[in-house]
Amino acid sequence: KFITFEGPEGAGKTTILELLMKDLQQSGIEAVFTREPGGIHIAEKIREVILNKEHTEMDARTEALLYAAARRQHLVEKVIPAIKNGEIVFCDRFIDSSLAYQGHARGLGIDEVLSINEFAINGFMPDLTFYFSIEPERGLERIASSSEREKNRLDLEGLSFHKKVQEGYEKVINRFQERIVIIDADKPMIEVLDDVKNVLKEHIQM
Ligand code: C5P
Ligand code: MG
Repeated sequence: KFITFEGPEGAGKTTILELLMKDLQQSGIEAVFTREPGGIHIAEKIREVILNKEHTEMDARTEALLYAAARRQHLVEKVIPAIKNGEIVFCDRFIDSSLAYQGHARGLGIDEVLSINEFAINGFMPDLTFYFSIEPERGLERIASSSEREKNRLDLEGLSFHKKVQEGYEKVINRFQERIVIIDADKPMIEVLDDVKNVLKEHIQM
């Protein structure tokens, strides 16, 4: 099973994935936890290029292609082999991020970004996606108060950009309803974790 976590900044995807990883390890479940862009050397390098604060001249199509390239390499090198090996793979962001951020928020068009991603992933889609729903204002507040989080190029964007990201995700959810489960992420983390685990129980043995 390939399970992805999606949602805007500050929704708590990474935090919940860390908690879930500990839980699953304790139950002895074989699972791989990874993230996008990144997860393997080449894709982490691409991540550095995309998120570098100095790269303010980055063109939106270049950005979309770099995300797709990082996605391709990560899938081939890490995700697909793990799945063939019978492991469950949990990934912090995947194609829906590109559709919402580059497709809608950057204005490239969801269909255009979907088509370059179809080339990159070559038919490989998530079995299940959790969408962490939170108002952009709340998410940005959480980020501002988090000391651990490193600032990246996207953090220079204002509220209006993040509102567009949310709008983009709404379109993506409508389009891929069959695999997306919406989680209310504006709750204490323990409750969010419980909600995620309750849905997961319907999909994996735990
Ligand atoms: O998931 P994480 O917060 O680590 O993502 C790093 C940054 O990349 C975030 O600021 C996110 O908004 C941005 N991003 C993006 N387009 C994507 C994926 C991530 O702008 N397709
Ligand atoms: Mg995160």
